Amino acid sequence: MPARSAANIFARRVSALRQRIEAAEVGGLVDAHPPNVQYLTGFTGSAGVFLLTPRDAILFTDSRYRIQAREEARNVEVRVESVRLHTAAGKALRGRHRRPVIYSPEHTSVAQRHELAQASGRGVRWMAVEGVVEELRSVKDESEIAVMREAARLAEEALSEVLKLVKPGVEENDLAAEIEYRMRRKGASGAAFPTIVASGPRAALPHAQPSRKRIAKNELVVFDLGAILRGYCSDLTRTVHVGRASARVREWYRAVLEAQAAARAILRPGVDGAAVDAAARGRLRRSGLARYFTHSTGHGLGREVHEIPRLARLSRSVIRAGQVVTLEPGIYIQGVGGIRIEDDIVVREDGTESLTQLNRELLEL
Ligand code: ZN
Ligand code: ZN
Repeated sequence: MPARSAANIFARRVSALRQRIEAAEVGGLVDAHPPNVQYLTGFTGSAGVFLLTPRDAILFTDSRYRIQAREEARNVEVRVESVRLHTAAGKALRGRHRRPVIYSPEHTSVAQRHELAQASGRGVRWMAVEGVVEELRSVKDESEIAVMREAARLAEEALSEVLKLVKPGVEENDLAAEIEYRMRRKGASGAAFPTIVASGPRAALPHAQPSRKRIAKNELVVFDLGAILRGYCSDLTRTVHVGRASARVREWYRAVLEAQAAARAILRPGVDGAAVDAAARGRLRRSGLARYFTHSTGHGLGREVHEIPRLARLSRSVIRAGQVVTLEPGIYIQGVGGIRIEDDIVVREDGTESLTQLNRELLEL
């Protein structure tokens, strides 16, 4: 991306955030969560504290990142510090602010919170507010969605290739390694999370780590994988059957697929995350399978694998156009196996668009 248009993107994001804090009558915001710092400034280093006030936008980093920060950061003043970064941010606010300054309780350690208070002095009131930047970046623009579409395609290509290697005797570990290797060769900067390959009874563990277990005939195998491409994640799950599936397995598979479709059918701007979850769960209940659906229906996706909104029973997230979410109902039957189907879906004003396109019908290998 040419530097000038990149600078515009960061200027737009920072100004949207500034409008929010001004509307909330807040004096500033401090955020050190790397995905948030990247989103707002372009800086991809691991040590950065971003400070926003009505007047200033400052990125504090340390000398390891002197060159990188000046190359990457746009639209902010970069300060290379020899003191701790939260101390530097606190000092910059000293004696200047009557309005409270926001920090994230989720991404600020007790020690960092202490540094902020010590350095800013008593004149600054610190206020814990959750998810201010996360809320902003949950709504993606078309350039972000285009990258996520590519990240999805990359995961699909890797999985399609590796499905050809699935046969009795192959280790789960080998399949997981092949997937991650291929994603990387295709341009991913890494896997979005450790790839899951879970076969037979192990497929009943939603977060099974791949093991040395060998694939056997007449087993279900769950593949859950994602690529990181230019800072954005994909997240894809497919379940295949080794050999011909029984009528019972087909029925289960059909129920999970229809649960996903039911969730997608009601996904739109304004609906709440709990309603989307209830749609998937309701379809599984009709087949007597709801008690085997032991996790939530989906989650926001972007720079992180798990973002807002949450599509869960107790979710209070209200869905907005431009958000990208996964829809991933599954059933897990102890001693038998599991089935999960997961796609990455963009919420549009007038419906939804799936970034993942890979065949969703039961594949018998
Ligand atoms: Zn997944
Ligand atoms: Zn997921």
